[in-house]
Amino acid sequence: MSELTQKIEEPTPKTSEPVLKIEKLIKNYSMGKRNVSALNGIDLKVNKGDFIAIMGPSGSGKTTLLNVLGCLDTPTSGMMALNGKDVAKLPEKKLYSIRRNELGFIFQTFNLFPYLNARENVELPMESTKKSKEERRKRAKELLEMVGLSGREEHRPHRLSAGEQQRVAIARALANDPAIVLADEPTGNLDTKNKHEIVRLLGRLNLDQGTTIIMVTHDSQVASHAERILFLSDGKITEEKRGLHLVKKKLMCPHCGSRIQPSDERCPSCKKKL
Ligand code: ADP
Ligand code: MG
Repeated sequence: MSELTQKIEEPTPKTSEPVLKIEKLIKNYSMGKRNVSALNGIDLKVNKGDFIAIMGPSGSGKTTLLNVLGCLDTPTSGMMALNGKDVAKLPEKKLYSIRRNELGFIFQTFNLFPYLNARENVELPMESTKKSKEERRKRAKELLEMVGLSGREEHRPHRLSAGEQQRVAIARALANDPAIVLADEPTGNLDTKNKHEIVRLLGRLNLDQGTTIIMVTHDSQVASHAERILFLSDGKITEEKRGLHLVKKKLMCPHCGSRIQPSDERCPSCKKKL
């Protein structure tokens, strides 16, 4: 087997060291005299290149879990290691730097700055990095091209459709080359066509760039695009299922599993007719 074939067959290599590891994670909120147990002992390993969907009924702890994973909130107890570094009890200043350098966020409501254009929105998270102005501009343009928005760089959010705004938000999330992208209902505010386009884009980023993605969704169609689907109930992971990773499935030879292009008539690896 050629080197190229091997590379293509395993576009998202899994390393033995998980990018994120959490053990016995607990998050309680106190509401006056009442104690709400939002996360009730979560154990999870996320490998580099994973594409994970988190599902569960309202109030099951999905947002709390994503916020804790995103270092936006600290757990009450338990262990959480990001790239082997214990982050569960770090002070806010350190968490801020982890959020900025190692994590990317995508929100249901896009959260773009309305007075900045698409390129400036993508440049923003790079502002306090070592990159020069030119480097930031170049990277923002490349990222916008990657999400299919070439020629729209100078448009402000109000001149972009909802689907295009979410593409800008995805480009922004990738700006500092994060270890993990966290998305809370990324398709929640989109119509059916845009919903499918956005989740396919996430699938392609995962497949082509090896981006590690954890996304919360209510929508089982959206979740089916992921490779692992976790079900939360009362602050616990009660089940894990295999998703279909539809983008990967579509681009895999049904005979030998090698990577194919949509235009291929024969598999470039096993030469069988597709
Ligand atoms: P989901 O996103 O699955 O709907 P959440 O993570 O938002 O669930 O909430 C899980 C539980 O924690 C719920 O009972 C909710 O009321 C409670 N909760 C979430 N955030 C807070 C908070 N800031 N203060 C108090 N209780 C909270
Ligand atoms: Mg929620």
